[in-house]
Amino acid sequence: MRSLLIFCCFMALGAPVFAAVELTLRGQEPVVIENVYQQQGVSYVALEDILDVVDLSGQWDAVAHTYRIRTSRGWVVLSPASSYMRIGDAFYPMHDKPVFIDGRLRVSESFIQSQLPQLTGRPVFFRQLQPQLPAVVETQNTGIDELFERLLRRTERRPGPAIRAIAIDPGHGGLDTGVIAPDGYNEKLLTFEVADQLARLLRMRLGIPVYISRSGDYDVTLDQRIESALREDVDLWILLHAQSAFSPEIKGIDLFVREEEEPLNPSLGSLVLARQLSDAMMQGDFTVRGIYPSSRLSLGRGNLPTVQLEIGYFSNPDELRQLRQKEYQIHLVQSVFEGIQNYISLSRETR
Ligand SMILES: [Zn+2]
Repeated sequence: MRSLLIFCCFMALGAPVFAAVELTLRGQEPVVIENVYQQQGVSYVALEDILDVVDLSGQWDAVAHTYRIRTSRGWVVLSPASSYMRIGDAFYPMHDKPVFIDGRLRVSESFIQSQLPQLTGRPVFFRQLQPQLPAVVETQNTGIDELFERLLRRTERRPGPAIRAIAIDPGHGGLDTGVIAPDGYNEKLLTFEVADQLARLLRMRLGIPVYISRSGDYDVTLDQRIESALREDVDLWILLHAQSAFSPEIKGIDLFVREEEEPLNPSLGSLVLARQLSDAMMQGDFTVRGIYPSSRLSLGRGNLPTVQLEIGYFSNPDELRQLRQKEYQIHLVQSVFEGIQNYISLSRETR
């Protein structure tokens, strides 16, 4: 319920935070399905979320490794190993195989457009609620010939991201709390919440692996902390922190890059990433104080584009209150995501 409220709040601002789709079965109210994941430019939606909307149900058969759906046409069987959907003894080709992402079996948008009307026997209206993809498609219960034709037409793919994977380090953890608010709320909790949301958004929208240095509230050694950033496929590293100052007046976001990178001004590296993040956050109406070199940031691969984000001051009561708000965190995560996306576009151009 909480996520729905947040979603509505951002819809009112005209900017959906995470990718979502809207499904409507003729004669019924539209239903918004969130947590739409993207891989190679294709949107994937949890199969069970879709079935819920169209009043169908099914279940996973762990032995056969198939998902069985009960329909008026009989049992429909899907498998992550197969690009065919089986209805009775007949097989129908699917444009994209179902995939397990984040523990749920998900099907692509082409399943919604092409196969779903076959299962329901009724038209299904499908709409992307994502600013970049304002496609409105009406599907009908059509014959097999038209189904094939539509499958053949849907062959274009958008290019994948120019970076292979991202590492995120939520600062502190366990006994190391980081800065603490008067009531005990602390930096390790905030950085973990923000890291978790950022990782989810990056996975959903970019469809690339995102490695987090800790998956909960526990102590992390320095080696464990940089382990994810040292992975061969990681092309970008974000460290998340918050800070505290003597003066309660000071507020805003500080970005840090490795000390030696500041004068070098590399064409594509930490400083470029920091500028993209800074621009995107300012665009999102956040106060950005500046980009600074930091001697503390000598961790990890020296040439790995790395930015440490100090996302606010616990010592400023107003900013502390904002930092603790889910809506504020999501807005911040969205801006960081846009900065990363702009950095990726830039690296694609200069490749
Ligand atoms: Zn910190």
